[in-house]
Amino acid sequence: MQPLSLELYGSPADVTWCPGCGDFAVLRALKMAFSELGIAPHQALLVSGIGCGSKLPDYMTTNGFMTIHGRPLAIATGAKLANPHLNVVVVNGDGDSYGIGGNHFVHTCRRNPDITHIVENNQIYGLTKGQYSPTSQAGTLTTTSPGGSIEAAFNPMVMALAAGAGFVARSFAGEPKHVAKMVAEGIKHRGYALIDVLQPCLTFNHVNSYDWYRERIYNLEDTAYDPTDRAAAWQKAEEWGERIPVGILYRAEGLPAYEEQVTTLRDGNPVTRIQQLAEGKHPDYERLKEAFC
Ligand code: SF4
Repeated sequence: MQPLSLELYGSPADVTWCPGCGDFAVLRALKMAFSELGIAPHQALLVSGIGCGSKLPDYMTTNGFMTIHGRPLAIATGAKLANPHLNVVVVNGDGDSYGIGGNHFVHTCRRNPDITHIVENNQIYGLTKGQYSPTSQAGTLTTTSPGGSIEAAFNPMVMALAAGAGFVARSFAGEPKHVAKMVAEGIKHRGYALIDVLQPCLTFNHVNSYDWYRERIYNLEDTAYDPTDRAAAWQKAEEWGERIPVGILYRAEGLPAYEEQVTTLRDGNPVTRIQQLAEGKHPDYERLKEAFC
């Protein structure tokens, strides 16, 4: 397949992220993944929440929906049910996804709608000026933890596995091509796909810099790792500190997607039904015309 031009996806909106923010890599990676997979802007929907990274739908020409704090997964699931033909991608930060939206995160993992979820994980709340977030490591000094965070960090890899996610991956914003590859793999996966992207917030997180990550990350593809081995995935999901694995930690094939099982959708989805009505091809068209016209 011939890749589509990256220029198709660039919106005229001014990007307001700080220079060097990891969000730029996610923006670039999304364009690369859509281009490579031949997904035109009108065939994709980006759904975000609130936060620096959640501004991203404004910077692309795809369909976009910037929702309320912590709720993009619920809204994305609804959009996928209404129109299963859309490539639905959620993009939000660690606070929006794992904190305010933590409940939706857990239940989306187990429901398994065919949506791709990219989490811009910089271990801080950037937009609201640097409070500690669910993924901040214990001891992190911020405006809301002046003595160091006393909470254990949330581990999204472990939580996604425990909640039943069928695709669990991690990437690093310092390697945009790797992010693009993980996003493309997530879109191709039939079902919910989590891609947690480790990235610096240069303005408020002065610990987890590009160099900090580069000293620690290693690519699972460079090892003999088998992402279909669930027991091995548990071990990799726990690994953090001196060495941090990136790549696909777990991939399960054959799990039915949520929208394939919803009984009220067996006769067609709402978008198809509306199209059928407009074209006079709906199975109940004559009866409805008699009743309402
Ligand atoms: Fe990025 Fe942090 Fe700046 Fe927000 S505050 S745009 S997360 S560098």
